Amino acid sequence: MTKIFCIANQKGGVGKTTTAVNLAAALANINQRVLLVDLDPQGNATMGAGINKAELKSSIYQVLLGMGELKDARLASESGKFDVLPANRDLAGAEVEMVELDHRESRLKTALASVVDNYDFVLIDCPPALSMLTLNGLCAAHGVIIPMQCEYYALEGLSDLVNTIKIVHAKLNPDLKIIGLLRVMFDPRMMLSQQVSLQLEEHFGDKVFKSIIPRNVRLAEAPSYGVPGVNFDAAAKGAQAYVEFGKELVQRIRNTAA
Ligand code: ATP
Ligand code: MG
Repeated sequence: MTKIFCIANQKGGVGKTTTAVNLAAALANINQRVLLVDLDPQGNATMGAGINKAELKSSIYQVLLGMGELKDARLASESGKFDVLPANRDLAGAEVEMVELDHRESRLKTALASVVDNYDFVLIDCPPALSMLTLNGLCAAHGVIIPMQCEYYALEGLSDLVNTIKIVHAKLNPDLKIIGLLRVMFDPRMMLSQQVSLQLEEHFGDKVFKSIIPRNVRLAEAPSYGVPGVNFDAAAKGAQAYVEFGKELVQRIRNTAA
């Protein structure tokens, strides 16, 4: 069955898009059929997958507002070997325009239904807010992957996100659960990183992925070439960590299904 996962954390700049793009590419490299959904008006996942957000004929904006079909907006990422439902700044207007519409929180879910059987994974890159767009992601998904930087303030925002996930689970989407927390931009030399990392393990136990993504400049450079980091420099430590994470995720899904 297709797995639909949101990459979410309402904090900005914590590595959501880097995780979404690199996980998509890592899964594609192990022969998984992947659709990457860019649910952020910044369009960073779109650009990171090598698609020019300024030249879109149609995008997720048209799809959410019922002005276009998903299959017409969908594009192929050649550098990543996965499909992309792209976004650009048009999407910023959707937040307001959707207020008028019926079933506004489930529009992405409805749109995905037409293509979901063509994929093993649908990964949704959420914007840095607990907004109507993120709510659409959470309503469409089976689970949430939460990238976290191991720093003092990281834990503060986490309870808001966990509460939101609980509410969506109770009221809108009984399928939704936390798949796991992924430690990203990790710097093992920092005592604080180690401490927060341990706190996460104590508090969330098995929900913390074993894979840890280190801070790695090659991952940060890759988006400007429109190539996912795992393909941009496969030998880099950051790339290898995302490859490991992809395998761990597949394994975790197999174990929970069994
Ligand atoms: P936003 O909330 O704005 O959508 P985000 O959570 O999607 O941000 P990213 O865009 O993935 O975060 O990452 C923020 C910045 O950190 C980017 O410049 C990215 O290249 C860089 N970055 C992400 N992960 C790493 C890493 N492991 N090592 C080094 N740089 C990283
Ligand atoms: Mg982002």
